[in-house]
Amino acid sequence: MQQPIVISGAGILGCYISCALSLQGIDSIVLEKKDDEVEDSIRTITLNPFSKNLLDKIGIENDYSMIDKMEVKDFDGTGKIVFKSSEIGMDHLAYVSDFSTLLMAIRKKASEKILYKEEIIDIDNKGDLNEVTLSSGKVITTNLIISSDGKNSKLANKIPKSDKDYFQTALTFLASAEKDMNMSAFQIFSDNGICAFMPTRKKGEDFVTVVWSISDDLIENGYEDFIEENLEKISRKIGNSFQIRSKVQSFKLSSHNRSSYIDFPVVLVGDSAHSIHPLAGQGINLGFEDANSLVKKIIKTNDSDTINFKESLNVYSNERRLQNEIMLKTMDGFVALFNERNPYIRFLRNFGLNAFNQSKFLKSFFVKAASGPIK
Ligand SMILES: Cc1cc2nc3c(=O)[nH]c(=O)nc-3n(C[C@H](O)[C@H](O)[C@H](O)COP(=O)(O)OP(=O)(O)OC[C@H]3O[C@@H](n4cnc5c(N)ncnc54)[C@H](O)[C@@H]3O)c2cc1C
Repeated sequence: MQQPIVISGAGILGCYISCALSLQGIDSIVLEKKDDEVEDSIRTITLNPFSKNLLDKIGIENDYSMIDKMEVKDFDGTGKIVFKSSEIGMDHLAYVSDFSTLLMAIRKKASEKILYKEEIIDIDNKGDLNEVTLSSGKVITTNLIISSDGKNSKLANKIPKSDKDYFQTALTFLASAEKDMNMSAFQIFSDNGICAFMPTRKKGEDFVTVVWSISDDLIENGYEDFIEENLEKISRKIGNSFQIRSKVQSFKLSSHNRSSYIDFPVVLVGDSAHSIHPLAGQGINLGFEDANSLVKKIIKTNDSDTINFKESLNVYSNERRLQNEIMLKTMDGFVALFNERNPYIRFLRNFGLNAFNQSKFLKSFFVKAASGPIK
């Protein structure tokens, strides 16, 4: 069997790449090690306008909750920043989707290309063509292997990485709100963690999705009592009240970035290449920027024999690695700033937030940077 491109991992990004290549007449096959069942999780995903636009272009229709206003507040002070889509000329700041619903929709779109319960067990590099052996024993001859198989990717394993353990856990659950969220999201920074509240929809019902990043030492005896003690206090800061409506899921928080995104014939995208603290909901959005950049390089190379394929992929690796590193370091800066207990730094932090809030230029710059490369 011959396939120009083999994609390992039928997550949102692997399926997106296959659909985007198909639109340009480039064939691919997607291997998914699990079966075709999508677990009904309570996880949601926040897409920036750039990522949502890419999904629109491949024809994904989805029930998104729009965010038009985002308030970032310091729990212990008066510092706050308010971002509004109307102030910076954008339709919406972000789009929240139920994770399983979006994954099912994109898998349906890519269904003809996906082989379930199949993974790569061996790659024999024979110059420009490579023989890939699958777990079923099938052998595929291919030019390129795209690793979109997540944070624990075996294909990415050989490439060194820098990583960071935040010694934090993210708790996430669905809640109902007493007052309508009015397309607003909130993020509260406090000694009890970073807590984000975003409107979302699941099976036609309105919810609020809560993602709460907490230092491990605060919940070493379990998180039930911690949530009960602190959810109401934090909710008061945003003038609303929340009732938990789902089980609570927890994830250990860490980040990583590979030293290169290419180990020919394997090229990395998304969580296989990098992961980031969820505080700004940028994880999959950086992955969509990787995917878009890689698809463009493949199309360009396909169109013209004069462009060197490997060189083009090296450009992809260098460009995307640098961009992701900048975002990773920026998020680490925020995490450190809001973990700070020194009262003078806390005062400056509140002062800084309010000063930032007065600057339309800075706010616009910041939101556009978080919204992806094109508007
Ligand atoms: C609590 C939490 C909240 C988050 N919230 C947000 C958010 O609001 N916004 C945001 O942008 N990001 C968010 N993220 C990050 C986001 O979920 C990830 O960045 C994104 O899912 C990565 O997509 P991916 O396709 O690279 O990998 P994955 O979603 O991990 O998909 C990988 C796929 O590959 C398959 N696979 C694994 N190994 C193999 C193999 N050997 N062979 C074949 N298939 C394989 C897996 O089964 C899976 O289907 C959040 C993450 C967490 C943990």
